[in-house]
Amino acid sequence: MSKTALITGIRGQDGAYLAKFLLQKGYVVYGADRRSGDSTCWRLKELDIAREVQILYMDLLEISNIQRVLAKIKPDEIYNLAAQSFVGVSFEQPVFTAEVNAIGTLRILEALRASGASSKFYQASTSEMFGSTSAHQNEETAFHPTSPYAVSKLFAHWMARNYRQSYNMFNCCGILFNHESPLRGLEFVSRKISHGVAHMKLGLQNKLILGSLDSKRDWGFAPEYVEAMYLMMQQPVADDYVIATGHIHSVREFVQCAFAAIDIDIEWEGTGIEEIGRHPKTAAVLVEVSKDFYRPTDVHFLQGDFSKAARILNWKSQTSFEDLVKLMVLADVRRLEKSQ
Ligand code: NAP
Repeated sequence: MSKTALITGIRGQDGAYLAKFLLQKGYVVYGADRRSGDSTCWRLKELDIAREVQILYMDLLEISNIQRVLAKIKPDEIYNLAAQSFVGVSFEQPVFTAEVNAIGTLRILEALRASGASSKFYQASTSEMFGSTSAHQNEETAFHPTSPYAVSKLFAHWMARNYRQSYNMFNCCGILFNHESPLRGLEFVSRKISHGVAHMKLGLQNKLILGSLDSKRDWGFAPEYVEAMYLMMQQPVADDYVIATGHIHSVREFVQCAFAAIDIDIEWEGTGIEEIGRHPKTAAVLVEVSKDFYRPTDVHFLQGDFSKAARILNWKSQTSFEDLVKLMVLADVRRLEKSQ
């Protein structure tokens, strides 16, 4: 008999890729959507799975609808991907961020515990929880969250662990480092760059205005990361895993690779807020830095040590940073050309 999975955050990047992955494994996939249950999920459409995922109305702010959905579908596996997932917004909306990410997760755990069901539970934890710790973060590294988003996620992470220990529930936490794709939201810097560079290629935009170019991240390819979520849930014992590439690159390098994908070898001048990126031939300014995109506190150096996942899950990332950036830019170019 087919296994049943419930994915919260089905409209998001990871929700779409995970749904596709599980459908290919023969799962019946339910997607929890906080809006109306209609079928306007552009990411599911783009992956051509909109008709195969069964959409249910479920908002993490309301426990009664969580209880109703769990009682109705009795999922074998629950993947809790729903979140206010943008760090920048969490400084503007810290209470809402905590309501969804922290208490929302607790609502699911509590509904699950009270139901007595044996559904396995996956929690979308994040490298942002490490905050200002030094590089090569692994499962043993202490957490020092530096944003309301990271604090909210750390609460959810500890609650998932606490319910595992206290009630013997099968709860796994995937501590995922940044992962990107053509389905990434436009508010995230990776997609802002790929989308902007694609617009510039077609003459629809003159320049990119970004925050700190020095921020470094460990960037992977999202479809590979959802496979890691699935692998964690298939282990005999629930546990937590860091998922990362182990390589870091700055926002500046991301920009550089993105322009290289449209055959522009960008040249840099100046430092900090004065830094600009120029076209090598026309000298036109293509990149500027603005303090408007700086955060009150930022994480500058996240680099994951995924050796536990490699050893136990037999997982490792496959797509290089350069290929990831290129595929994102070319996907945005294709979309734009199609829409013209
Ligand atoms: P995403 O694209 O922002 O998707 C998050 C989804 O959560 C959205 O579809 C959103 O719905 C939904 N949501 C927000 N509030 C909700 C609520 N109250 N009730 C129900 N659903 C709600 O995020 P993602 O990149 O796919 O990431 C998936 C998860 O992994 C998130 O929890 C994120 O924090 C975590 N994570 C991501 C990364 C990364 O690099 N991508 C790294 C580590 C951890 P709407 O579409 O209606 O807004």
